[in-house]
Amino acid sequence: MLDSTDVFVIGGGPAGLAAAIAARQQGFAVAVADGAEPPIDKACGEGLMPDGIAALRRLGVTLSPQYTHPFSGIRFLASGLSVDAPFPNNASGLGVRRTTLHRILTERAASLGIDLRWRTAVTGISSDAVHMGRTRIRARWIIGADGGTSRVRRWSGLDGYRRRNCRYAFRQHYRVAPWTDRMEIHWGPSAQMYVAAVTNKDMCVALASHDQTLRLDEALRSFPELRDRLAGAPISSAEKGAITTTCTLKRIYRGNVALIGDASGTVDAITGEGLCLSFSQALVLADCLRSGDLRRYQQEHRRLALRPQLMAHLMLTLDRRPRLQRRTLQVFRRRPEIFRRLLALHVGAVSPVSLAIDGLTLGWGLLTA
Ligand SMILES: Cc1cc2nc3c(=O)[nH]c(=O)nc-3n(C[C@H](O)[C@H](O)[C@H](O)COP(=O)(O)OP(=O)(O)OC[C@H]3O[C@@H](n4cnc5c(N)ncnc54)[C@H](O)[C@@H]3O)c2cc1C
Repeated sequence: MLDSTDVFVIGGGPAGLAAAIAARQQGFAVAVADGAEPPIDKACGEGLMPDGIAALRRLGVTLSPQYTHPFSGIRFLASGLSVDAPFPNNASGLGVRRTTLHRILTERAASLGIDLRWRTAVTGISSDAVHMGRTRIRARWIIGADGGTSRVRRWSGLDGYRRRNCRYAFRQHYRVAPWTDRMEIHWGPSAQMYVAAVTNKDMCVALASHDQTLRLDEALRSFPELRDRLAGAPISSAEKGAITTTCTLKRIYRGNVALIGDASGTVDAITGEGLCLSFSQALVLADCLRSGDLRRYQQEHRRLALRPQLMAHLMLTLDRRPRLQRRTLQVFRRRPEIFRRLLALHVGAVSPVSLAIDGLTLGWGLLTA
């Protein structure tokens, strides 16, 4: 085993593995440590947007149709109304089981010769080393990819953050053939359900709400259409919970330590963008490590987060406002191009400037609906 490396990544979730792969692609010697054992599962909507798939491709990761299920756009459903839009340029998103994605990323990392250390919790860092109990590995760069409750963030004094909108989420899989080629977001009076097919016989259903006692089976009563779809379908995974937040950090690097993924800030699960952001951040970070310029990483990181943060803000405006949900869907039905363009913005295919025009049209539509 090495006692020194160029890059040490703390946390081997999707962000950590992506960071490791990108750094290795830039020629660095890389080690990763994670306290858990693969394949690592986590509560997630398990939808990858087209921009996330493109970033994965640049990491040399391809997701075989055998292990995934495509979706061609997004559908919103609320109070008996439904609107949907395709992704621009005939692009597709992919539903993929979290454990499958983890396995594929792990295989890619192993194939590049990355030193992967599972069941290995990092217990501290110093200016030039990572500590795992009594083992100490020297590292030129230390990457904190240890998730939303990051200890690396605290150890390196980067804990100055603003947290907005903390919500509780649960996910479960149902054995039922996909009934749609869209990813569905069902809007209820005080919660949302995200639904994506992850294989040709499994649907992933995730719930998000402000009520930490609300569970999927109880929440389904407020979503009769979805409840009917799932009626009698065997449950094919254990219910898993998580907290979803929108959290922005003042700084994401100090000295030779940089943060990535949820450790570096989060966007609400409703955007379906957390994974995509991590993969894009990984590519930028590796480039900045090569030039030794973490200031640029911080700038690029901010730029990448802007779009998902804006979309999270827009979508969360509808949370717990059933009348506004209904009126918004009515406007989208009357002016489907607005929904199409919002979706195009969401996946980075149009600029925020054109959104401003749609925003005005939507605002006018809401006033007059
Ligand atoms: C309900 C829900 C639904 C979501 N749906 C989607 C979606 O549909 N699409 C999407 O793109 N995103 C979605 N997201 C967001 C996405 O799940 C996260 O952005 C993503 O998991 C971030 O990955 P990460 O690697 O940064 O963190 P994590 O996945 O949390 O990984 C952190 C890793 O660090 C390890 N670790 C922690 N501390 C240490 C330590 N001291 N030493 C060693 N290892 C350590 C942990 O074991 C863990 O494996 C959703 C999130 C939620 C909560």
